[in-house]
Amino acid sequence: MSRALRTTVDHGRCVGNAQCVNLAPGMFRHNENVQSEVYDPAGAPEAVVLKAARFCPTSAIRVEDAATGEVLFPQP
Ligand code: SF4
Repeated sequence: MSRALRTTVDHGRCVGNAQCVNLAPGMFRHNENVQSEVYDPAGAPEAVVLKAARFCPTSAIRVEDAATGEVLFPQP
């Protein structure tokens, strides 16, 4: 079973280019301000979530292990 993730989007950084929405549409969507939000924390496999975080042009996506708080992205 895959581990639970806590994924957040920093709206001070998100420029709404939809890269994450396109990569993981089951997890991210645009809000009314055309910024990304996580609407289903389990809506994509971990590898896809981390890919979306890596591809975000403004590093707005943070991914943690929900159980331990270990930061998976950005890498320390
Ligand atoms: S890839 Fe980054 S900047 Fe683009 S919509 Fe997603 S969080 Fe926002």
